[in-house]
Amino acid sequence: MTLILGLDIGGTKSAAVLGDETGRVLARESGPTPQGAWPEAVAFMVELLHAVRPPTGEIQAVGVSCGGPLDSKTGTVHTPPNLPHWNNVPLRDLLQAEFGLPVWVENDANATALAEHQWGAGQGTHNMAFLTMGTGIGAGLILNNELYRGRRDLAGEVGHTTIVPNGPPCLCGRRGCLETLSSGTAIGRIARERYGDNALTAHDVCDRARLQDPLAQSIIADAAFYMGIGLANLLQTLNLSWAHWPCRRATCCSTPSVNPRRRIAGRACGMA
Ligand SMILES: [Zn+2]
Repeated sequence: MTLILGLDIGGTKSAAVLGDETGRVLARESGPTPQGAWPEAVAFMVELLHAVRPPTGEIQAVGVSCGGPLDSKTGTVHTPPNLPHWNNVPLRDLLQAEFGLPVWVENDANATALAEHQWGAGQGTHNMAFLTMGTGIGAGLILNNELYRGRRDLAGEVGHTTIVPNGPPCLCGRRGCLETLSSGTAIGRIARERYGDNALTAHDVCDRARLQDPLAQSIIADAAFYMGIGLANLLQTLNLSWAHWPCRRATCCSTPSVNPRRRIAGRACGMA
């Protein structure tokens, strides 16, 4: 049996797993990501990996999923927005020195796209996209059965495609990006503007939409409409056979009758 260590580094929580080549998870450990200087956080990641490492059995490699921007060739994590104290961290080299194993560091959307293609809902497809939707919007692309990273590991940044010229300002410096119209962050911001309540989050908008609040439903419907345009552009550009859109409660609700986000987005991009 081939054993692999996996590590997912998130802005608030991180997790390590021991898995095999079929994608089966044999052990799992997680905990809050240390928010201080990066050496402390990396030491915690090493601890997590040791906690799932078996006393016997040969481990083949370590795979790491982390928010970008990062360089998958060198395994260097640059300055991810959700890890503000990380700056050009040579993560691959540090973990290789610790474990004496090959280490691969991959952008989280890309890592998930690979996993879905290999073991999940994308099995058997040749061209697919995995969409991440939460604080931001991104995609991992599998084209001709291979992960497509682009020139600087920045392929799949669908959240920063322009949907509304001169629309709301985006963290990337441009305006009207999909992320400013359809992400969880955008839904929260739009709700705070329209309700005049500075405490509202995307989660609250979903709760209100579920209770048939028309303003909350219209905010969700708008976000879904723009998401549909973004998806349509992606599908038309790449001629994909499949797009996976995971549902996270923070940004949408799973019941189509309550929250029409999927339905409206599907209609806007010709999928429903
Ligand atoms: Zn942007």
